[in-house]
Amino acid sequence: MAGAPKRQDTRKFFENLSGAGKCIAVLTSGGDAQGMNAAVRAVVRMGIYVGAKVYFIHEGYQGMVDGGDNIKEATWESVSSMLQVGGTVIGSARCKEFRTHEGRLKAAHNLVQRSITNLCVIGGDGSLTGANLFREEWSGLLTELQQQGLIDEEAAQKNSALHIVGMVGSIDNDFCGTDMTIGTDSALHRIIEVVDAIMTTAQRYLALVSALACGADWVFIPEMPPEDGWEDSMCQKLSESRSRGSRLNIIIVAEGAIDRQGQPITSDFLVVRCLGFDTRVTILGHVQRGGTPSAFDRILASRMGVEAVLALLEASANTPACVVSLVGNQAVRLPLMECVQMVKVQKAMDEKKFEEAVRLRGRYFSSGISRGCWNTWLGCICLRFFCIFRLFLSVSAALRHPQSSFNVAVLNVGAPAAGMNAAVRSAVRVGITEGHKMFAVNDGFEGFYKGQIKEIKWGDVGGWTGQGGSLLGTKRTLPGKHLDKIAEQIRIHNINALLVIGGFEAYVGLLELSAARDKYTELCVPMVMVPATVSNNIPGSDLSIGSDTALNAITDTCDRIKQSASGTKRRVFIIETMGGYCGYLATVGGLAAGADTVYIYEEAFDIRDLQANVEHLTQKMKTSIQRGLVLRNENCNENFTTDFIYQLYSEEGRGTFDCRKNILGHMQQGGAPSPFDRNFGTKVAAKAMQWITRTLKDSYKGGRVFANSEDTACLLGMRRRALVFQPVSQLRDETDFVHRIPKEQWWLKLRPLMKILAKYKTSYDVSDSGQLEHVTRFRAKESNTTATI
Ligand code: ADP
Ligand code: ADP
Repeated sequence: MAGAPKRQDTRKFFENLSGAGKCIAVLTSGGDAQGMNAAVRAVVRMGIYVGAKVYFIHEGYQGMVDGGDNIKEATWESVSSMLQVGGTVIGSARCKEFRTHEGRLKAAHNLVQRSITNLCVIGGDGSLTGANLFREEWSGLLTELQQQGLIDEEAAQKNSALHIVGMVGSIDNDFCGTDMTIGTDSALHRIIEVVDAIMTTAQRYLALVSALACGADWVFIPEMPPEDGWEDSMCQKLSESRSRGSRLNIIIVAEGAIDRQGQPITSDFLVVRCLGFDTRVTILGHVQRGGTPSAFDRILASRMGVEAVLALLEASANTPACVVSLVGNQAVRLPLMECVQMVKVQKAMDEKKFEEAVRLRGRYFSSGISRGCWNTWLGCICLRFFCIFRLFLSVSAALRHPQSSFNVAVLNVGAPAAGMNAAVRSAVRVGITEGHKMFAVNDGFEGFYKGQIKEIKWGDVGGWTGQGGSLLGTKRTLPGKHLDKIAEQIRIHNINALLVIGGFEAYVGLLELSAARDKYTELCVPMVMVPATVSNNIPGSDLSIGSDTALNAITDTCDRIKQSASGTKRRVFIIETMGGYCGYLATVGGLAAGADTVYIYEEAFDIRDLQANVEHLTQKMKTSIQRGLVLRNENCNENFTTDFIYQLYSEEGRGTFDCRKNILGHMQQGGAPSPFDRNFGTKVAAKAMQWITRTLKDSYKGGRVFANSEDTACLLGMRRRALVFQPVSQLRDETDFVHRIPKEQWWLKLRPLMKILAKYKTSYDVSDSGQLEHVTRFRAKESNTTATI
């Protein structure tokens, strides 16, 4: 297929970096985490792709110390079908010996014997601390080996520099500087499955109760011990919430939770304290580690694995060992040593410097912005992260809040997307907390002009977080033709601001409304949209609410389809995904599922490409690999339909493989929202509400709200690392309105990566790949229009 058009510029290309003559070893260490296999696979394939020799080190540091068969050369095929497997295929063990000098000396000897001077370590803080130490000691170890006559001068010379790259793979690590760690998202999936299951069981008899009261839930975490006297206030809150009719409260206790005196808070202790309430304890334990890795973890781990190889290839003798990571949507490298120093978190906590610990833990933790933060209890953060959680914690706080005279309407526009309800819930509750009166609009702009507008209260959105689809109702209708009626409804209900949660129609709708402000003063109110659509095709945002759930649906199905055929003969699956003209779901789903080829509209292809792809698969089938996976975006090409591609592959593959096709359809929109979508929806909606409050205050003059400047009709989107408010009118130029996609799409950069991992030769632009940063200036600079919650 044609690569990205080449501009003459400063871009750096991967193919100019050669791994010839280099040996890279990869190991997984410490507790296993979902997604480690995806990282191993990416390291192996990228390493082989650049011409390096890649070794597995089985059983973590133990294998490195023991050597022998534990260190084995990896082949392309040896990592096939690994992507969807949980845990770590190459094994991970705790290793006491590596903590000793003798152990590390043996390990060094084993590496030198194989000329391995590049090491990828995937593990938690312990493993990476060990790696750091190993690197610091390296030259000393070589001298010692030489003195003992175990290696000669030449070997010592040749192996004098050890390059180390770490990837944080751990569901419960204290590693600072990394907001996204391999395995956390999958653990959140497991936690949410359990909590949702508890909810469903409870709700069966809760159905009798008129409404779920919205009492305070409690979360106990090691970093933030509760105020003294918390036991009494908790019991009082529980009683209050019960007396309001609540039959269910969920209390989440993290492993290691303590009070201000350092006394452990355990679930057993809470049961005793909560005597008088019917209390059930569910310990998540190993449930959190089970299952297959989530789409997010696979993508994260694959991207990181590739980054790790890049970092190794670029390393010189003076480059510090680093950790590769993603911040927001951006790959970064952080010096391993600085990260290790930041593990002082634990120390600060031991010394009861709690505020310090929270600070050390990184920005996401204290700001409540979390995607794949650390340890397991963050499952609850994902349901309601920290500060928002604190915001919601007490209804009475909301009631005490001075009432503003502002009315804010919330609506869903476009096709349903998972996470929309979490966003509405968050908007309603944050809005109420800020003193507004919140109005729910049913059925998008259609309901708006028809007057389906009603006040929505705190309790009305109870339990919405985990529900799929749109509970408000959503329609694709655009407002442009109904401006008179919409203006009238705004007048009737005295709406002072609009929050639109939706897809491309929400964006176009906002453009139409803001463009009509000259004609209708009613439309001179602050309006903001947050992108929510499975397709992820909204300009101004790298991600949209709902696409992560869709990606998980795609990968789950691909896994299942692949499995269905295990044991039978060679087979290729052609799978059609949604997305309109936007190839995001197909491409990123393909990366997560390990696709061989992904056809999208954005990258034109012709019959020669199709032929080459079939030939590629035919060659692949001659190895031990028996499965092929081809994804096709629904609108990638008018004439090369899914049927056409299926028939072409069937005919050309005759004798080598047979084909099956599958159209995924609307299952991609539905289902329970993934942790990411709940989290992201909650977060962006809260942030959008806070913007509304600010903008309302700024535009309230002479007893009324008047907002007609560009920057009072905004889209809140995630751009690289930051959440930014952008006037919708400024996004016009970035939009391909015919195909309903942004003109530039960041994820197109992931296509070469996907191709490389499927053994295609391709051009890969690496100018954007992780720059070395420092942990201390980790906090992203956000633009002026952006505020941190
Ligand atoms: P995790 O990496 O998940 O935090 P551990 O803390 O158990 O898991 O560390 C895994 C392994 O890393 C240990 O068994 C040990 O071999 C090695 N390791 C951990 N800490 C150190 C250290 N300070 N020095 C040397 N090796 C270490
Ligand atoms: P909250 O929004 O604070 O979760 P809700 O109003 O949604 O509260 O639900 C009422 C009660 O049900 C809360 O006390 C909470 O314990 C529980 N609950 C509802 N939804 C969930 C969920 N998805 N996960 C965990 N607990 C929930």
